[in-house]
Amino acid sequence: MTEPVTDPLTPVLTKRWTEPGSWSIETYRRLDGYTALPKALRASPEQLVALVKDSGLRGRGGAGFPAGVKWSFMPKDEDKPHYLVVNADEGEPGTCKDIPLMMADPHSLIEGCVIAAYAMRSHRCFIYVRGEALHCYRRLHNAVREAHAAGFLGENVLGSGFDIEITVHAGAGAYICGEETALLDSLEGRRGQPRLKPPFPAAAGLYAQPTTVNNVETIASVPFIVNAGSAWFKRMGREKSPGPKIFSLSGHVEKPGQYEAPMGTTLRQLLDLAGGMKDGIPLKFWTPGGSSTPMFTAEHLDVPLDFEGAVEAGSILGTTALQIFNETVSVPWAVMKWTQFYEHESCGKCTPCREGTFWLAKVLERMVDGHGTEEDIDTMLDVCDNIFGRSFCALGDGAVSPIQSGIKYFRDEFLALCEQNKAERELAGARV
Ligand code: SF4
Repeated sequence: MTEPVTDPLTPVLTKRWTEPGSWSIETYRRLDGYTALPKALRASPEQLVALVKDSGLRGRGGAGFPAGVKWSFMPKDEDKPHYLVVNADEGEPGTCKDIPLMMADPHSLIEGCVIAAYAMRSHRCFIYVRGEALHCYRRLHNAVREAHAAGFLGENVLGSGFDIEITVHAGAGAYICGEETALLDSLEGRRGQPRLKPPFPAAAGLYAQPTTVNNVETIASVPFIVNAGSAWFKRMGREKSPGPKIFSLSGHVEKPGQYEAPMGTTLRQLLDLAGGMKDGIPLKFWTPGGSSTPMFTAEHLDVPLDFEGAVEAGSILGTTALQIFNETVSVPWAVMKWTQFYEHESCGKCTPCREGTFWLAKVLERMVDGHGTEEDIDTMLDVCDNIFGRSFCALGDGAVSPIQSGIKYFRDEFLALCEQNKAERELAGARV
């Protein structure tokens, strides 16, 4: 296994975040902003796709699909409209990286959009922002206005002959619209529900036209790659998961927030940056990439957090949203709260997820309330088996992750709740 690169202190994606007025076009341009765009426009679309492929940039929204390969699926001819859609519907519990990025440095996303659209022969880009993030929606609108006025958007960008418009669209706060095809349905004005694939968006996406959906952090990485090259990008992180990454740390840490570090950085290293566990109370469990990724424990402090490292240790990287819990937190209680979230956000399209999340929440609520039985644990695992791999989209798989991993590592805690209930029932029976 390649050793993780652990020099986390040279910011790339977050380098402008602490500058006064970091969101303005003046600050962006003062700090190298819009210098990648003219270079990109002098290259051919094929050269840009090859560059991003060679950089090894993988999707930062959770799936980790190579971005350049995804771009290469778009048709080369221009006989119909091509669309670039940016998934800015950040809603995974614990995830807080795209909204801070768009708030602090919206022009890095705008510049990335123009470059990516040019590479995919698209003249229309949509940024689909989570509806609750009104502040972010406004900031992006302002950035689009500024970029337009400066000639980086609109007709004949920088005299290149390339035309591009960006539409910022606010969703309505449904978690499922973070799934790319549900997002496209929502963008078209329908109820956001996942579509059957194939056809994949590159063949028939928005308005049934060729479409690529990319995450905010993925697109914001592109100007840096154009400026500094793929070899530079590959020097950070690990061989199969190169580049910098924004990790969101929340929960029981001294300094929660966003920490940029190379792919493959461990939680132990990130905790050093974040001042350690809050009040020195030891770590009990944590998620590597939001609540839909199987939880880890204190034994996993040295797992390299990249796509391969997380999988080898029994989870997935997800959105690098590290929710950190100390020893005071009950695992069944936390699992119940996550399951209630998934029950609420299940779109209802398929039976395993719609019915399964409902019953899982009911069983967990009963258990946490002190009325569970030992059989409930097996019932929950059985329901999870009938959701995982049998649901229409990844929400179903994600919903069972906290339960399966919670029982795997902390079965005793679930049992203790049931035994307490059993003892109380026996006592009540003896009294009768
Ligand atoms: Fe909807 Fe859940 Fe089925 Fe996904 S898995 S389509 S969210 S019901």
